[in-house]
Amino acid sequence: MKQQRTTGRTTKLLLVDAAVLLRAATFAADKHRHQRRKDADASPYINHPLAVACLLAVEANVQDEALLAAALLHDTVEDTEATLLELEETFGPTVRGIVEEVTDDKSLPKKERKALQVNHAPHASVAARQLKIADKICNIRDIADCPPADWSTSRKVEYLSWTEDVVRGCRGANATLDAVYDQAIKKARRKLGIEA
Ligand code: NDP
Ligand code: ZN
Repeated sequence: MKQQRTTGRTTKLLLVDAAVLLRAATFAADKHRHQRRKDADASPYINHPLAVACLLAVEANVQDEALLAAALLHDTVEDTEATLLELEETFGPTVRGIVEEVTDDKSLPKKERKALQVNHAPHASVAARQLKIADKICNIRDIADCPPADWSTSRKVEYLSWTEDVVRGCRGANATLDAVYDQAIKKARRKLGIEA
């Protein structure tokens, strides 16, 4: 299905199946329905996967339907009772594979999971590396604009530095996303008062 999409002064064609993305958004909204983000307003969790998919489609002009669907679904297996098998049966093996690549093993201690993300990033697929960068961009924008209510500045600073370590291994998959990340981290640091 072809859709007209207007971004500022230019009009582009988004060559993906809207029905697939609407199904993925609906699935994610249902799975995350009882969850909230960590900001002071406890925003609905679904705002985050929507923001990640929107960033990929609108800011990075990603046309890969499986990647956009995976962006909508990227936290369902990690954070809800959804399973990889359920994703495969509902959205196919490609979407399942991308989500699998960006899903942490929650049975591991947090420190180990953080290190594994850094170590695994350079070996991830092009699609998973784009999704990882988009996820980190959205999270550092949240750290700047609507941070977890109880985080100290030092914890925010540590988080930003860790995203840099992960994103270093993701670079080269999408030059636009690399540039958007660089702008986002600069802006977040400026807002935290740690970069001119
Ligand atoms: P968490 O993994 O617990 O929290 C960050 C994650 O929460 C994000 O990646 C995001 O994941 C999700 N999230 C939900 N709401 C928000 C929001 N409003 N803004 C941003 N992210 C949100 O954090 P860490 O434990 O990794 O802590 C960050 C760093 O701080 C680490 O390097 C850790 O070592 C350090 N630390 C420091 C402490 C201190 O007191 N100085 C104490 C503990 C840790 P998703 O995309 O999956 O939703
Ligand atoms: Zn996420």
